[in-house]
Amino acid sequence: MTANGSRTCRFCRTPLRHTFVDLGMSPLCESYLRPDQLNEMEPFYPLHVFVCEKCFLVQLEEYVNPDHIFTEYAYFSSYAESWLEHCRKYTDQMVERFALNRQSVVTEIASNDGYLLQYFVKKEIPVLGIEPASNVAKVAGEKGVPTLVRFFGQRVASELAREGRLADLLVGNNVLAQVPDLCDFVAGMKILLKPGGVFTMEFPHLLQLMEGNQFDTIYHEHFSYFSFLAAEEIFNAYGLTLFDVEELSTHGGSLRIFGRHAEDSSKPVSPRVVGLKAKEGAYGLSQLECYLSFGEKVRRTKRELLQCLIRAKNAGKTIAGYGAPGKGNTLLNYCGVGRDFLDYTVDRNPYKHGRFTPGMHIPIYPPDKIRETRPDYLLILPWNLKSEIMQQMAFIREWGGQFIVPIPEATICS
Ligand SMILES: [Zn+2]
Repeated sequence: MTANGSRTCRFCRTPLRHTFVDLGMSPLCESYLRPDQLNEMEPFYPLHVFVCEKCFLVQLEEYVNPDHIFTEYAYFSSYAESWLEHCRKYTDQMVERFALNRQSVVTEIASNDGYLLQYFVKKEIPVLGIEPASNVAKVAGEKGVPTLVRFFGQRVASELAREGRLADLLVGNNVLAQVPDLCDFVAGMKILLKPGGVFTMEFPHLLQLMEGNQFDTIYHEHFSYFSFLAAEEIFNAYGLTLFDVEELSTHGGSLRIFGRHAEDSSKPVSPRVVGLKAKEGAYGLSQLECYLSFGEKVRRTKRELLQCLIRAKNAGKTIAGYGAPGKGNTLLNYCGVGRDFLDYTVDRNPYKHGRFTPGMHIPIYPPDKIRETRPDYLLILPWNLKSEIMQQMAFIREWGGQFIVPIPEATICS
């Protein structure tokens, strides 16, 4: 926000006048409630996403102080096995491709509990983590990953540069979307990257969000949603060139971008960059109209999901949820799906048992509850894991139970 109260683009400062999608008011999607909190006031914030007409950065205003989000960040990356495997493979690839060795420095921004850097440590490559949440940084330290407890930006980068601690490989996974001051962050990367060094970043791909109608992956902690085209423009502005890109299946579809100093001509721009830009262009990502049509697609999905749930309830059926992921909370709150539709939901994470989903206050139980109550329908909230969940829960067919998958459009799977 500027001094006169108008919103401007986080990157290019153009006034924001165009809505990408307005999901109404929503609570923070990771604020699960204990029973004694159910009658207390619960903060709701707008989930109104804008698109910049000049640089096409899709963005949410920063309503929630990042100190609040990050310093007590409860999520430890290391919990997911498949994600660790992803990181181990990444380490092997980077060490080989960029010939990293004991003289190199690998620095990760938002290094969490050392989930990634631990694999470089095993190869005896010097590492440095930068992580604002002190409780997770402490765990990293115990794993032998030295970690600086700071928010990353130009100030930290300049301090490290003065100490001669420039990065040969600078990594940032799923952090770019969560940076309130994008310009300070990218300027810091320019400072910290060694001449001849490489940076890689992973973030959810806006093209996948739009194509797959994944509006439930929008939440308050994610301020920016990037196409490759928008990311390239931002890095270019700070003297950094994106020379390669990979499309990954993580988080519903992510990009891994590879960057270098603009003046480093030793790494030519890959045909994959050209190909992806052409693909984004063909989808319409360099035209405002394409972004403006997304909101109606989302509203239609809401109506279809509600139609499906109303039909089931009118027929006297029972519905339970499967999973209590953050994205499920965006979906339930936006669609207004409360206990009038879902009797309860289940989750494998013991932290959530006995708690209630934010906003809609749906009780969360261990998965055994499904077998006890035999619901007619199971609404799968982590739709990205639907095949795995339908396999695990195949036994609901014993009593004629069926699955409802809400995204990209409400579908019943028997
Ligand atoms: Zn802009």
